[in-house]
Amino acid sequence: MSFFQNTLNLIEKASKIMKLDPSAKALLSNPNKIVEVSVPIKMDDGKLKIFRGFRVQHSNLAGPYKGGIRYHQSVDMEEVKALATLMSFKCAVVGIPLGGGKGGIIVDPRQLSKGELERLTRKYTERIASFIGPEADVPAPDLNTDPQIMAWIADEYSKLTGQNTLGVVTGKPMAVGGSLGRDKATAKGGVYVLQEFMNEKKLNPKKMTVVVQGFGNAGANAARFMDELGFKVIAVSDSKGGIYCKDGIHAVKAIECKEQTGSIENCIATGGKVNYHVLKGETAKTVTNEELLELECDILVLSAMENQVTDKNASKIKAKMILELANGPITPEADEILEKKGIVVIPDILANAGGVTVSYFELVQNQANFYWSSEEVQERLKAIMINSWQRISGIQKQYKVTLRMSAFIAALVRLEEMMRLRGLI
Ligand code: GLU
Repeated sequence: MSFFQNTLNLIEKASKIMKLDPSAKALLSNPNKIVEVSVPIKMDDGKLKIFRGFRVQHSNLAGPYKGGIRYHQSVDMEEVKALATLMSFKCAVVGIPLGGGKGGIIVDPRQLSKGELERLTRKYTERIASFIGPEADVPAPDLNTDPQIMAWIADEYSKLTGQNTLGVVTGKPMAVGGSLGRDKATAKGGVYVLQEFMNEKKLNPKKMTVVVQGFGNAGANAARFMDELGFKVIAVSDSKGGIYCKDGIHAVKAIECKEQTGSIENCIATGGKVNYHVLKGETAKTVTNEELLELECDILVLSAMENQVTDKNASKIKAKMILELANGPITPEADEILEKKGIVVIPDILANAGGVTVSYFELVQNQANFYWSSEEVQERLKAIMINSWQRISGIQKQYKVTLRMSAFIAALVRLEEMMRLRGLI
């Protein structure tokens, strides 16, 4: 089943539990607008190459469409539709006045030079320019896109419109209208929620072992924050592979090592030569991504991509709880298996909503042309994440369902009210 179909099934399931108006369900199951563009660029060798790009605008009930742009060879329209839909729900979970959208280009950005990447980004911006804008649709970083790419989008859009419009995109570098704290916001938000969950269950971080799949922005920062808080991070991986050390991994050193060597799997001793002192103990080994998911641990942080835990491997997961920093990393079939095993899942639309929350702060700062201190950003992010957790935890107790269903119900309650008040249903 496709990622989009899986997402629709979740909406269906939550709708039944909270008795959603069928018209509301129909509206939320159909993205408002789907845009597909061709993105031709001159490669460095002088040859023209055509890439395909997408932008899906799922819902703007709560505010401008909002959501990242991913650059990946496996991007397709169904995936982007699913991700756009999840964004509408995510924004509703944390109660920020933004809708849901997502974009992507089918490309492996590692195969492009910096110049090609810039031309690709500028051309894509030109092709979707009439659909985006600070009041219309505001892209942001996602898989393989970063602040530099956001700066090119803001620059290209500003050129096309003749107005300096930094608020057309979020996740920008600080020097061109970025917000303090945006780069670490997804991980920070997830950790705030995890801490609330652990306080409620009276669990001690110092007694918890953690495995992190995905060592991009969200995963690497989550490993760093959890290491600082006293959790023992015993394994981490990126798309190439991972490392495991039962005594723990120094997250900051692992991040430096990945930056220097290109992959986390290069970061342990080879042939008696220690590449980098990322380990807290002597014994370490490399692990594949599949092996990493099945390691014995307390908390598994999924921060790579969708569909990582499926009906094939769910029964082999040994973690006691899962924090979903990626979007859709667990399929619905796997969800059921995990639930039967008693593994608690803190779902994506709550756990990774810190990113879009600080994107919202960035947009507010751009519009006001007035910038906040790091403390102000952190305080507001923390308050939103804790409130959202409390609301969802309350719904869970009321309906006696999983946290994922509770989060979907929390979002549906808000979205249904908006639809009713606006006269859509
Ligand atoms: N791509 C991120 C997400 O999936 C951030 C979106 C945003 O900041 O708009 O939540």
